[in-house]
Amino acid sequence: MTDNNITRRKFIQASLVASFMSSSAGAWASTATPRPAPVHKPRAPRLLMLDPGHGGRDPGAIGRIGTYEKDVTLDIARRMADALSGIPGITAKLTRDDDTFIPLEERVRIGREAHADLFLSVHADSAPNMAARGLSVYTLSSKASDDFSKHLADKENEADMMGGMDLPPADKEVTSILMDLAARQTHNTAQHARASFVEAVGQKWHLLESPMRAANFVVLRAPDVPSMLVETGFLSNPQDEQLLRQPQQRNKIAQVMAKDLATILNSSLFS
Ligand SMILES: [Zn+2]
Repeated sequence: MTDNNITRRKFIQASLVASFMSSSAGAWASTATPRPAPVHKPRAPRLLMLDPGHGGRDPGAIGRIGTYEKDVTLDIARRMADALSGIPGITAKLTRDDDTFIPLEERVRIGREAHADLFLSVHADSAPNMAARGLSVYTLSSKASDDFSKHLADKENEADMMGGMDLPPADKEVTSILMDLAARQTHNTAQHARASFVEAVGQKWHLLESPMRAANFVVLRAPDVPSMLVETGFLSNPQDEQLLRQPQQRNKIAQVMAKDLATILNSSLFS
């Protein structure tokens, strides 16, 4: 075990003792003097950041009869934002609302700066196997997530996370541990959200054979915003391309995804 690991373990133990002591003290205090009932403020609406994939000079996948991924994703994301505007407790924003090219890191930055509760990048796939069809949902792969957690200690990330504050070395160690824990929590939340999302969408839309997927996509790397990427179908598959070409079908999948994500965002997973 390295010195670093020992320090981390001590910190976590100290945190656990501290939280135990404060909760015990709280329990004792509550028997001695009854507390007033907590006042529940109405919570701020949950923000879903919708990210229509590709755009501008990058069309994304192109179907056999000329359907552009960047057009399909923008239309679906706009329809989702419209559908969500009528649902209480939820707001939705778009990383792009026109045919412009936005670098991947910039999309992540937009989600983080807006303090999004959930980030959903919307895409349409392409595969050499023309038979492949159906919707699938990605989260960041565990390996990529762990690697990214390690890199959180990088000066640049740290400064970014701490709003540019320059901390003394001891505080930096603690900050690095807390960021590591936060990134793991973010990844867990994304995985739970993916499971609920796939299950709900699958009742109304054709899914890929193994629809819960993981990959090291740049847009999924925010350490503090749970992030998913949905491939709504395969433009390389004639049936899926036909579906995604039709405005009423795009509207259908947009409505389904918007409703299911609203349910997930209003659930205890995001409370
Ligand atoms: Zn794409």
